[in-house]
Amino acid sequence: MTMALTTHDQTGLWAPTGTNVGPQPRMHRPGHPAALGAVSVSDGSDFANPFAVGAHTEDERQAALTEYAIWLAGQPHQIAATRALGGHDLSCTCALGENTCHRNVLLDIANPPHNAFAAEGLAMGLTLRRPWASLLLVPETLGGKTIENRTWPTDYRGPVLIYGGTRIDNAGVAAAKRAGLDTSWHVDQQGWLGAAMLVDVHRSRGCCRPWGQPKVRENAPVYHWVFTHPQRLADRTWGRGFVGLRPTSWSVLVRRRLLKTVATSQKGANR
Ligand SMILES: [Zn+2]
Ligand SMILES: [Zn+2]
Repeated sequence: MTMALTTHDQTGLWAPTGTNVGPQPRMHRPGHPAALGAVSVSDGSDFANPFAVGAHTEDERQAALTEYAIWLAGQPHQIAATRALGGHDLSCTCALGENTCHRNVLLDIANPPHNAFAAEGLAMGLTLRRPWASLLLVPETLGGKTIENRTWPTDYRGPVLIYGGTRIDNAGVAAAKRAGLDTSWHVDQQGWLGAAMLVDVHRSRGCCRPWGQPKVRENAPVYHWVFTHPQRLADRTWGRGFVGLRPTSWSVLVRRRLLKTVATSQKGANR
């Protein structure tokens, strides 16, 4: 099997995002107001993550994040309200750097990059050949793929937005057939398809069957990238493929047309 093996680790080429420029994630203590100049998006606010209610474990919080992001992408009114947060710091009770906080989703949608293809944003993106990209978003219980095989590891853990590239991998087509999945549908899935959580990366020991590759492929060590909590967009969005794992704005999951709308009442209130 030749799964999508990429030898380029470009993660080191990109500067850390969200440093000094533009609206920032902020934190406030539960029961306290948002930090000065920031808008609260924590529980009880109009921008709370409804899926995070009762999410206590890390696993539950990871599930709540991808579920929320994909849900939000399909809510025109909520997107318009979020766009009105543009230019503001957003504050939540989650620790800064907490990669399951929905604050980053809102920040990216409120402040989408001027260049929709830019490598900037608070999530990470990954391009996979077809149909691997789509197979990664099938829940494991339905026979979906949970492991992405790469010849390079990454230290990054957190949300990854999944892009189905232009190229088709015949090994993926065969794998989809073996798994009893609708092969032609999955092969068709090109563009931004959804999100999943990257929770572990380890050197292959011949583990993680049936999707994990053996230890070595073409003289290179194989790493298993373990994904959980896949969520698929109802309508995929258009984009452009790229090499490696790179910073990506959550706004790529939202249709361009929706990003142009701003809720006027909120816009006034926030100025
Ligand atoms: Zn939070
Ligand atoms: Zn493994």
